[in-house]
Amino acid sequence: MTDQQAVAVDVVIFGGGVAGLWLLARLRKANYNAILVESDTLGTGQTRYAQGIIHGGTKYALTGKLTASSEAVFQMPGIWRDCLQGHGEVDLQEASVLSPHQFMWSTTSFTSRMAGFFASHVMRSRTESLPAKERPLIFQNSKFKGHVYRLDEPVLDTATIIAALAKPHLDAILQATLESVTFNPDASSQLALKATDGSRWQVATNRIVLAAGQGNAGLLKTMGRDSPAMQLRPLHMVMLRGGLPERLYAHCLGASVNPRITITSHSDTFGEIVWYLGGQLSEDGVKRNEAEQIQAAKDELHDLMPWLDLSQTHWSTLRIDRAEPSQPHSKRPDTSFVDETTGVITTWPTKMALAPKLAADVMEQLQHNEVVASGTEPLPAWPQPAFAELPWQEETRWN
Ligand SMILES: Cc1cc2nc3c(=O)[nH]c(=O)nc-3n(C[C@H](O)[C@H](O)[C@H](O)COP(=O)(O)OP(=O)(O)OC[C@H]3O[C@@H](n4cnc5c(N)ncnc54)[C@H](O)[C@@H]3O)c2cc1C
Repeated sequence: MTDQQAVAVDVVIFGGGVAGLWLLARLRKANYNAILVESDTLGTGQTRYAQGIIHGGTKYALTGKLTASSEAVFQMPGIWRDCLQGHGEVDLQEASVLSPHQFMWSTTSFTSRMAGFFASHVMRSRTESLPAKERPLIFQNSKFKGHVYRLDEPVLDTATIIAALAKPHLDAILQATLESVTFNPDASSQLALKATDGSRWQVATNRIVLAAGQGNAGLLKTMGRDSPAMQLRPLHMVMLRGGLPERLYAHCLGASVNPRITITSHSDTFGEIVWYLGGQLSEDGVKRNEAEQIQAAKDELHDLMPWLDLSQTHWSTLRIDRAEPSQPHSKRPDTSFVDETTGVITTWPTKMALAPKLAADVMEQLQHNEVVASGTEPLPAWPQPAFAELPWQEETRWN
């Protein structure tokens, strides 16, 4: 291998999370000569921490205000399901569905009843209030007094999504870091990359797409840019395992659009059930230390499911930031973000579920600017990244 190799492509994507990998698959299917640069392992950013819920817009509908952008979210479960069945825009047949539905439950509190009212009226076409025998076992307990709804929101195993998206395109994925970029007057550019084995690559490209989550800010800086601006929203998630009665996938309706708690279920390395807790608990928990956050989670579960026996349970927490386009008052954006400024398309999906919309928006942007697909060509052999582990598989500190 010479010291420096040169490659010319149509598009270079930075970031091997769900957004970058979905886009890579779509671009290559559309005959773009596209490559993806990942500096670490595939899925290592927010994607591996995601709860895997393919949101169908319940939260937006609960506000009673449907906007055009939130309407887009409603289409996502259908798009993902087509892909899982092998007749969609990308092939996800190898990915695992943890549950075909996420459930949502209301308690007897006034706020939860109000949210339940909205759920049943605004969401008529998307949710069903379930009779006791169709509920998850936990909500068949005679002490449970609320309502349970079944949502059109599948829950997926994120590691298998990453694998399904990446494996057919590994030849086009390079593990490297960006050293510098030179832009040409026509918005094409010349990138200097350093791969993990020390090899150096000069890549000429028509467009750069940033899909590196939190890494977008640093990449923009390397290019001498400070916009679009990014915001980070920290979360303090909780995991528990040991003696859990079943795999549960459910949001509890709270006082706001944000669920009071969101529970998904995963498996540790021994195949034991792990409950992963997010929602308002993880947002409020940012200010708590680990012990306080575990206590808050215990209190919350005891309040919501007093009949649940947690005497055999071990606990752990993790902190992770969501990376998003900056919003007034750091509010959560309600849809994906795509912005092009002289040769660089910066993206944040906001939700894993919105990766298809992000990819469609980027492709529209490329077509709008007449960035043509020149056809996929054999690429040189270069260092490829490994796949990230999921947090419940690598966690060793269980309290
Ligand atoms: C706790 C949690 C739970 C969530 N649950 C859900 C959910 O249930 N449903 C849902 O729809 N969404 C969920 N989300 C949101 C979802 O995870 C994210 O929107 C989505 O994963 C973002 O994907 P991404 O590909 O943009 O970024 P990331 O997953 O963050 O990937 C970015 C990638 O870029 C790489 N990178 C970084 N810097 C560089 C660089 N300089 N050069 C090259 N590569 C770089 C990183 O190593 C990483 O692989 C959740 C998020 C969190 C934090």
